[in-house]
Formats: sequence, structure tokens, C-alpha cells
Amino acid sequence: MPHTSRAWVTAAAATLASWAAAASTSIGVTAALAIGLSGGVAAWLAARVSQRDGGAPQSKGRTNTGLRAVPATDILAAMASPALLFDRRGIAVQVNDSARKAFPGLETGIVLRQWFRGSPMLDGMETVLGGASSAQAAYQEKRPVERAFRVDVTLLKPGEEFGLMVFSDQTEALKVDRIRADFIANASHELRTPLTAVAGFLETLQGPARNDEAARERFIGLMLSQTQRMARLIDDLLSLSRLETNATPEKVERVDLGRLAATVAASLSTVTRDAGVEVQLDLPMAGPFVDGSPDELTQVIQNLIENACKYAASGKRILVTAAEDGGRDAGLTIRDFGPGIASEHIPRLTERFYRVDVQESRNQKGTGLGLAIVKHILTRHRGRLVIKSREGAGSAFTFLLPSSGDSQRM
Ligand code: ADP
Repeated sequence: MPHTSRAWVTAAAATLASWAAAASTSIGVTAALAIGLSGGVAAWLAARVSQRDGGAPQSKGRTNTGLRAVPATDILAAMASPALLFDRRGIAVQVNDSARKAFPGLETGIVLRQWFRGSPMLDGMETVLGGASSAQAAYQEKRPVERAFRVDVTLLKPGEEFGLMVFSDQTEALKVDRIRADFIANASHELRTPLTAVAGFLETLQGPARNDEAARERFIGLMLSQTQRMARLIDDLLSLSRLETNATPEKVERVDLGRLAATVAASLSTVTRDAGVEVQLDLPMAGPFVDGSPDELTQVIQNLIENACKYAASGKRILVTAAEDGGRDAGLTIRDFGPGIASEHIPRLTERFYRVDVQESRNQKGTGLGLAIVKHILTRHRGRLVIKSREGAGSAFTFLLPSSGDSQRM
């Protein structure tokens, strides 16, 4: 079978099996599978393959005679998903390569009730062995790695091959769901803390501090800083959500990162002065040049310089230099001379809400989202962030993007 046809059969067979499982009420599709892979489905697939390979298109509902039927083994082998056929005793009679790879040791002749002992996915097989046309079940494993599959079981009936079992890997989808749930829980918690504080101040102002002028002034100040904290969080959450909604930057142009860094440093002069930090730019006359969104790359540089002011002001200076990686990638390094970061934290710094010291981050008006935003922007630009740090000696945050031309030394 030509390679293109084979890929096509894979997709078609997988789609058909999932249709049948998802639409168990759809008599047409389920019935098509019930005829058996070596019968109706095979003829149908063969018809489509022949059509794709130059045969005459057939009209809907009409059988195109003279087409070569594809044996069940070939269809099973062509399926990208792990799949197997089992007989009425629940013994595997055919197992495709993908299933062998996913479940090492799973071979023809295996008693499925023993192999998958204790798993709720066996309920799916029992339902079909009991006469149902299809069933869906879940299969999960914790070891050696955590994996989750949806298992579609479909009745075939004729001969040895009694049913078809197709495994769809759900591991990534479950991971994404878990990350999303954690994110919502974290975001709600971060917003609830200042909200609870404001509610507490308001209650005190209504009650014990009702006529206390000094307390009122102090509480209003505290409430203001809590609401500003909520506003910062919401701004950062909105930035993240905007970045997630549009997979690529909106306005891409050739950007001179050196010039951008100078502009950002100037715009942060009050922040750096208040932190007692000097920003030193050791950059070429022009460049480094990359293609990207000036707004988003401004945000990257700003977040990194602000972080150096927040957590490394003790080093008194921030050094911005050009970075490159074999001429292919270009970027900047923002280096500080502060306390540095312990190595166990470094791989987690770009996770949302991850902070080395939550209280310090709050004191510094942090949200825990700054580096997550930086990483997101760089990923959209096919770039990356490299963090190097030595405790007591400071940290260097380098970002690199595909380069768009030479820079000139000063
Ligand atoms: P935050 O809003 O808390 O600053 P970020 O995502 O920007 O969140 O940074 C995550 C954490 O990384 C910070 O809370 C801080 O612990 C650490 N961090 C970031 N930059 C530096 C730095 N230059 N020096 C030391 N620690 C840093």
C-alpha cells in the first residue's frame, strides 16, 4: 500500500472507531463496524483508498464493486492508536504494533481479564461481550509513568474476531486539565487574600474604629494598597490570557533589542532610582536584531529589569549585554549582583505563581506571574529563557530569539 494511502487508512479507521463509540445510537455507523473489519469497513476503506489513488469516485450509498478488500490485520496495523481484536472468551486475537509499544508484553493469546486485572476498562469489554454494540471505559496507570487512556470497545461478532478495542491516549489532556484547575485555584486564592483583608478593614471601620480618625486614615491606606495588589494581579492575568488567546504575536517587525533596552531603562528610571540601582547598558551601536513584537519584547525586558530591582537591589547595579548563540539566535542578558537564587528553584521560576519567597514577592509588589509572562512571550517568538545564578553572586537572565541580522560593535 503506498505510504499516503496507509496514512489515510490510519486516520479513517481511527475516526470510524471513535464515531462508532461516540455515537452508539447511530445505527448506521455502529452497524458498519458490526459487519466486521474484514467485511463492510474494509470494503469502505478500500473504496476510499482506491478513490484517493485515482479510482472513480463512488456516489453516496452505492457499493463500488471490483475493489480490493483490506484485511483486518492491515487495518489494525495501519491504525496510529493502540488497538486489538479480542474473541468471545476475552482473549486478544490480534494486537497492532502501536498497542505492543504502548503495553510491552501485550501479545496475541493474552487473556485480557488477567492483563488488565482490576482496571475499570474491563467493564467496557464485559459490556460488549454481554451483547452491547459498543462501550467506553477508562484505563489509567500510575507506574512506571502516569498514563490515561479512553478505551472504545466495539462489537464485531463474526468468526474469531468478536470485538475491537481502541485506546486513545488522554494523558496530555488530563495534564492540561489539572494545570488549569490548579491555576484557577491559585488565582482565586491570590485574589481572595487581599479581598479578605479589605473586608476586614471595612468591618473594623464600621465597628470599633468608627470614630477613630487616625485608624481610618491608616486603614484607607492599607485598603488602597490591597486593591492595587488585586489590580496588578488582574492585569497580569489578563496579559497571560491575551497571550494564550493569540498563538502568535500580532505585530511582528525587525526589532533592535539594544534600543528597546535603552528605552525601557529610561522609562524605569524612577523605579531603579528608588531601588538604589544603576542600569548599565553594554551594547552594540545597533542591534541585536530579531523579528518580533516590540510591545511584547518591551514587556520581557521590563519584567527582567524590574525583578532585578525587586530581588537584587543589594547588588547596586544591573548589567545589560547582548547575547548570541552561534549566530543563529540573538538576545540580551540582564545580569544582577544580588543574592542569587538557589539551584533547586531555578527550573520552577517560570511556573505561574511560583515564588522563592512568597512574602518577599508580596512585599515587592510581585504577583508570581512575571516570569511566566516572559516565558510565554518568548515561546510565541520561538525563543527561550536561560537562567544562571550563583548564591551570593547574583543572577543572569538571558533570552534568545532567532536572529534577524548582524549587530555592530560600539
Ligand atoms: P514575582 O511577581 O513574584 O516577581 P516572577 O515570576 O517575576 O514573580 O518571579 C518569580 C520569582 O523568581 C520571584 O518571586 C523571585 O523569588 C524570583 N526572582 C526573579 N528574579 C529574580 C532575581 N533577579 N533575583 C533573585 N530572585 C529572583
